Amino acid sequence: MLPRSILRTRPHLPQRCSALTSNLPANRAPLNHIQSIRLATTKFKPRSRPSPLSPPPPPPPPRARPFYTTPFFTIPTAFILGYITYTYTTTPTIPYPINPYSFTPHVITSTTPLSPTSSLITLSPKHHSTPPPSFWSIINSEGLWSVQIKQPQLQIQREYTPLPETSSLLSSNGNGSGKRDRNLDNKITIFVRAVDGGEVSPYLLSRKPGDVVEVRGPVITYTFKPEETVKGEEDIRNVVFIAGGTGVSPAIQLTAHLFSRYTEDGIKRRVKILFASRTASEKVLPQIQELQKLGDIERAGIKVDVEYFYDDKDSFITKPDIEAAVAGLEMGSGRGSGRDVIMVSGPEGFVNHYAGKKGWKDGLETQGVLGGVVGEILKSRKQGGKIEVMKL
Ligand SMILES: Cc1cc2nc3c(=O)[nH]c(=O)nc-3n(C[C@H](O)[C@H](O)[C@H](O)COP(=O)(O)OP(=O)(O)OC[C@H]3O[C@@H](n4cnc5c(N)ncnc54)[C@H](O)[C@@H]3O)c2cc1C
Repeated sequence: MLPRSILRTRPHLPQRCSALTSNLPANRAPLNHIQSIRLATTKFKPRSRPSPLSPPPPPPPPRARPFYTTPFFTIPTAFILGYITYTYTTTPTIPYPINPYSFTPHVITSTTPLSPTSSLITLSPKHHSTPPPSFWSIINSEGLWSVQIKQPQLQIQREYTPLPETSSLLSSNGNGSGKRDRNLDNKITIFVRAVDGGEVSPYLLSRKPGDVVEVRGPVITYTFKPEETVKGEEDIRNVVFIAGGTGVSPAIQLTAHLFSRYTEDGIKRRVKILFASRTASEKVLPQIQELQKLGDIERAGIKVDVEYFYDDKDSFITKPDIEAAVAGLEMGSGRGSGRDVIMVSGPEGFVNHYAGKKGWKDGLETQGVLGGVVGEILKSRKQGGKIEVMKL
């Protein structure tokens, strides 16, 4: 049955078939070999009946079994045919694990609860694909990026920020010369919190390993090297990142990127993350812990400090906390070789409070006017160079 179905479909799918066969390793049977096996096994030669009077014929000499009927041959052949049929019928030939234009199915491979309302969720493309070389390193070096995940019943989608493979940064030999193309296995890990009354976040948190979700992307939300920056300020140098809840994910992406940059230009950088979370009982993201372990500026070229604030301990990020962070990093000291950035990332009310409301123009979200706590701090600065503020 299996070979027939392949042979029937073969004339109608010339390109797919040739692509598949050309990709097969040399030890796998190509399709025309399969065809010849089928034809050989259907050849039938009728034998003449023996007369009852004639002496019994001498026993036939032992015959060698045709090579294609030996278990040694048939078992692997059946396996290969099954493999090819399975590959044919289930795997479209897709060169990219994700793309920005259409949703592709991803299987949830693991979920790690961090609190009753938040989890780390890892997704893998349902259909195997080998993206072009540097596919992931290009995405990771371009800017902060997110993917869109669809809620199928309601046909709505929301953005989620994949966390980088920080463990591969650590496994390098300390000067960052380790694995450069992260996410080599095409996995996407996201930190998701279920929002009360939300549509997509509770749906995602209710998914189990093995379930399939639809993913599209990447969407670049912030370019690391904006085209309009002046010479000498193309690269980010020091960062104060004010994060609320899952808004910390872009801070992790950015820090991993800056770590890679040091390996290329040797310029030391510092990152201070002020991380406000709802509850002290929520487990700390392993990616943050790993980046903190990097924090040896002499060896890794990047110093990462994370200060935690918890709503249920009545500790909130205050104006003096931000002022101290900006002063501690000597931001805006105008020494060139990069620009200093304050980023504010989190729910809408959080961003409004610390940096003012975002705006809208021609149907597109804009940065709006700088305001909030950060706006006050920067307005009152008497001296010092420019500090860029970005609301995420
Ligand atoms: C670029 C980008 C990246 C994002 N990355 C992540 C991520 O990595 N992880 C993640 O969990 N979320 C992330 N979000 C938020 C996410 O896209 C959804 O908005 C969130 O999951 C809620 O969706 P929902 O459909 O469940 O709720 P909705 O139906 O959209 O919202 C329900 C209510 O909750 C409010 N609300 C929405 N988000 C929050 C929030 N974070 N905190 C408090 N109230 C909120 C809404 O204003 C609304 O009143 C990101 C958003 C953007 C724009």
